[in-house]
Amino acid sequence: MDAFYDEGTLVAVLTTQPLDRLLDYRAPQGGCFQGAFVEVPLGPRKVLGVVWGPGKGDFDYAKVRSVIRVLDAVPMRDELRSFLERAGEYTLTPMSAMLRLATRAPGLGDAPSMRKIFRLGEAEPDRLTDARRRVLEVLRDMGGLALTQGELAETAGVTPSVIKGLVKLGAVREEEAPRDTAFPRLDPDYGGKDLAEDQAAAAEVLRAGVASGRYGTVLLKGVTGSGKTEVYLEAVAETLRKRRQALVLLPEIALTSEFLTRVEARFGAKPAEWHSGVTVTERRRVWKQVALGGAQLVVGARSALFLPFRDLGLIVVDEEHDTSYKQEEGVLYNARDMAVLRASVCSARVVLASATPSLESWANADAGKYTRLDLTSRFGAAVLPEMRSIDMRGEVLPSNRWVSPSLQAAVNARLARGEQAMLFLNRRGYAPVTICRACGHQIGCPHCDARMVEHRFLQRLVCHQCGETIPKPETCPSCGAEDKLAAVGPGVERLAEEAAALFPEARLAVLSSDLFGSARALKEEIEKIARGAADIVIGTQLVAKGHNFPLLTLVGVIDADLGLQGSDLRAAERTFQLMRQVAGRAGRAEKPGVALLQTYQPEHPVIRAILSGDEEGFWKAEAEERRAAGMPPYGRLAGVILSSTEVQEVFDLGNAMARQDAPLRRVGAQVYGPAPAPIARVRGRHRVRLLVKAPKGVALQPALAEWAAQFRLKGELRMAIDIDPQSFF
Ligand code: ADP
Ligand code: ZN
Repeated sequence: MDAFYDEGTLVAVLTTQPLDRLLDYRAPQGGCFQGAFVEVPLGPRKVLGVVWGPGKGDFDYAKVRSVIRVLDAVPMRDELRSFLERAGEYTLTPMSAMLRLATRAPGLGDAPSMRKIFRLGEAEPDRLTDARRRVLEVLRDMGGLALTQGELAETAGVTPSVIKGLVKLGAVREEEAPRDTAFPRLDPDYGGKDLAEDQAAAAEVLRAGVASGRYGTVLLKGVTGSGKTEVYLEAVAETLRKRRQALVLLPEIALTSEFLTRVEARFGAKPAEWHSGVTVTERRRVWKQVALGGAQLVVGARSALFLPFRDLGLIVVDEEHDTSYKQEEGVLYNARDMAVLRASVCSARVVLASATPSLESWANADAGKYTRLDLTSRFGAAVLPEMRSIDMRGEVLPSNRWVSPSLQAAVNARLARGEQAMLFLNRRGYAPVTICRACGHQIGCPHCDARMVEHRFLQRLVCHQCGETIPKPETCPSCGAEDKLAAVGPGVERLAEEAAALFPEARLAVLSSDLFGSARALKEEIEKIARGAADIVIGTQLVAKGHNFPLLTLVGVIDADLGLQGSDLRAAERTFQLMRQVAGRAGRAEKPGVALLQTYQPEHPVIRAILSGDEEGFWKAEAEERRAAGMPPYGRLAGVILSSTEVQEVFDLGNAMARQDAPLRRVGAQVYGPAPAPIARVRGRHRVRLLVKAPKGVALQPALAEWAAQFRLKGELRMAIDIDPQSFF
């Protein structure tokens, strides 16, 4: 039971303001519980805070101010407070920033907001139009239950003015009701499918785990289309039966709507949704209902991990290998790792689902820390696609063409049979480089060390680092030559142009995140394609993520070598995952699929592993290499990015940090750098990197904190520490 503090007692309050300590206040009139959300005075302002524990009392009591009011919200549970503390320690994030993550619902302290609802009134209108009759019929069918204006107008097919007219006549009653209502109950036994044998066995293990009521993590590895979703929904069902709550994390908002439909089919109602596309009022409703227990299942983005669940019993991380689980701005955390941490704090189960797990999870299963479940075949008649390479050294291609004759023939064969083909190229825009043929100048971003990417659809050049855009110049900005600027290399837009020329009869659809104004528009396009509205789908990595295109039988990868370049620690792993995932789009229904990989190095070990499908062999070889080099997951890394508008300042600080490394050496960690970051300037700020490498099992974070605390950041200097970095830009 959480402590209660009587009026006037000193309490320590954590606020969302960037202070490095808790502040003492007097408990307000009526007292307050530990964990209470409160409003406190800070200087001239009122700020949001949480009662974290007893006050320290190291301040003159007479001068201590009082908590202004306790907000109308369930106090933060002990479990969430310790999760925030431990996550903050792990990621070296100040607690104020952790609390901001946990209070991302505006208007938390406001009185419950109201909305109008409508139910059947007593009076009979003297004149009944068709529209009026429909409204009254809908309300009669509701059997005394009320509807909102929007719901009523939509179901009856009338305008709001019809409803207002009926209210005036007394035939419909208008009432005020709280907006933040509970979500419809989900029924765990509503619509379960008959599971195949291996599915049923996996589901049984998951159910037993949930029923144990103890922490545990399962890696659910199943080939694309094997029914992982069906299986983990059984774990959700068991969680609901135990009257606990479940959270399903998805890597991409565009995937949510398809998932919501599946949840509705399985449990009879839609769950709560939490991501950046959800309105502010709906977010507040979710936040409040999660705390009250009125939301049994939340589907959302990584930040849903910080919601104040009443009793969280299960966290599913779908497509757990996906890089978008790593937050790369603000608080740098990996949602997959934080899910495991949160579950361990609240005795919940974790299911990490993927066809191509991260090496981290593979190694944790290998070491026996996670239970591993495998689904090795596709559900029903569907079979895994055959994978082959196209050796580009033997293909004859005119310049500025990227679809080889072999791939072209394969696409034509699909078109002739009325099947869909996909051309995959992981590059947005029209062309990655714009060069002047007179002087060789490449157009770069004025604020970043990055080339501007031509987006012909927008008719502009765009910097993918900072978002700066400029109209495509007519003359070279360097030598002034006219009509000499040329696009070099392909992006999806240019590939679409080529496809239109090669396959003039085919209907093309381009799927790239920047071509759609909203998640909804993208979702609609995806649904249209799934129904057969396109013959050729051209896409970036957006298409690799879990979408179901039943008519698709061919995937052509334009440049399988693209991800192998560069020195990224995870280049091989990422390429392997991406190629296997995108190939998995083909042949999801009855017709078998083929994936063709265009490559200039078909004997490269990674390409060979992708083609042979020897996943265990690939993981073992990759694991051996990392182990030998002391790299994650067999060693630990932390990245430090220093940035400033002054280049000298960043290097001076970087050099000082490299010299004063005693706190790190004490735990056996080494510092590498400083070196200019691969993208040495972003948004006008110069960037320098240091890399800290340590053996596994050392207490790296306290050492990093002590090391970093030696340096004062003056003026424009900024330091960001990235624990377990995923990207090295
Ligand atoms: P994954 O998540 O592994 O890619 P899904 O769960 O999306 O696989 O399943 C692939 C397809 O097969 C979906 O359309 C799903 O509804 C269907 N499916 C899987 N298992 C069953 C089952 N036991 N009964 C009926 N349909 C199933
Ligand atoms: Zn830029």
